[in-house]
Amino acid sequence: MINFKELASEYKTPLYVYDLDYMSAQYNALKEAFKGRKSILAYAVKANSNLSIVKHFADMGSGADCVSIGEVRRAFLAGVPSYKIIFSGVGKSDDEIKEAIQKDILYINVESEAELGRVELIAKELNSTCRISVRVNPNIDPKTHPYISTGLHDNKFGVDLNSAKRMYIFAKNSAHLDPVGIHFHIGSQLTELEPIREAAIIVADLVRSLSTINIELKFFDIGGGLGVQYNNEVTIKPYDYAQAILSTLTALDLTVICEPGRFLTANAGYFLTKVLYEKQNGQKRFVVVDGAMNDLIRPSLYNAYHKIEAITESKSAESKADIVGPVCESGDFLAKNYTLPKLEHNDLLVVHSAGAYGFGMGSNYNTRGRSAEIAIKGNTAKMIRSRESFEDLIALEKDFL
Ligand SMILES: *Cc1c(COP(=O)(O)O)cnc(C)c1O
Repeated sequence: MINFKELASEYKTPLYVYDLDYMSAQYNALKEAFKGRKSILAYAVKANSNLSIVKHFADMGSGADCVSIGEVRRAFLAGVPSYKIIFSGVGKSDDEIKEAIQKDILYINVESEAELGRVELIAKELNSTCRISVRVNPNIDPKTHPYISTGLHDNKFGVDLNSAKRMYIFAKNSAHLDPVGIHFHIGSQLTELEPIREAAIIVADLVRSLSTINIELKFFDIGGGLGVQYNNEVTIKPYDYAQAILSTLTALDLTVICEPGRFLTANAGYFLTKVLYEKQNGQKRFVVVDGAMNDLIRPSLYNAYHKIEAITESKSAESKADIVGPVCESGDFLAKNYTLPKLEHNDLLVVHSAGAYGFGMGSNYNTRGRSAEIAIKGNTAKMIRSRESFEDLIALEKDFL
């Protein structure tokens, strides 16, 4: 049991706390599910990009799935070997592509024909050959929140099957491109297996059809997206997930690459915030806390649910309240109509499932410094990022005054 009260008093609030042992257990469960197959888990760095977290997974043998050159640099700093680093994203700049080629990462995951042309040109300028995969958009509805659906033609990600085939032929015929992988990622917080299976079938068929024209791929990259339990969702079991994928790969000798983000970190993380005030506007009850949408934007952005636990001596009857932060936006809330007892100044709220897309989506809106981050391993707590000070926030501006 993590002693949240002690952590809050030692490190102050708002505060992010991560349970590294939980992350390890999730990693091992997923790795185990792919047992008997060549597989790489490439941690999706954007879910929680703290260097110590990336290093934690690197130390377990993880690769890294990156969506900016900044994330690629983080992966290198954290000790992820170059041959386990993947670079995805719809809008890579020339400089990013150049650096990725120079760093000799596993492959660049290309998301359009236009991008493939740029990659070829840049590889040629560098007198190099770039390993690539193509991100296929299989036009499958993942049945998740529209903001985190990525595998429909309505979404900006990937290319349709015909374009993909053209791109592989183009790459095969280029002296500066080496097509080694195929990729799909249909969305995040997936709780249904069927869309994943359907997507895998479509993409595996494309691999077979490429093979008939002598384009032999090595990596079958299934993206991430495995959902977790925030509330009462029924989630996909790692074993069932792996079986669904592997069953589509009969007679194909491919290394499976999986890019989990949320699955590894979401439920390992807690966001700690303290009660400042209770207030009542007419019939409406508000609990005002010191954490805000700049710390954890998921409730505001996706209407996401987070379980919130009150650590309080209060024995009063429970009633519904909106839990809101100090930021000057009506959209600044951590929960709406959440049932809580009457709370006192300095009571602690523990927001669960905050380890993925929490800190990383944070901002300095309202000139609020970002929280400190703490990692727990066994019985020891360690600061892995210090709280941002006012000086940190103005550092890049003050010389121009
Ligand atoms: C965001 C992303 C992931 C990770 O998604 P999760 O839902 O956190 O598992 C994996 N691959 C790609 C390409 C992504 O964009």
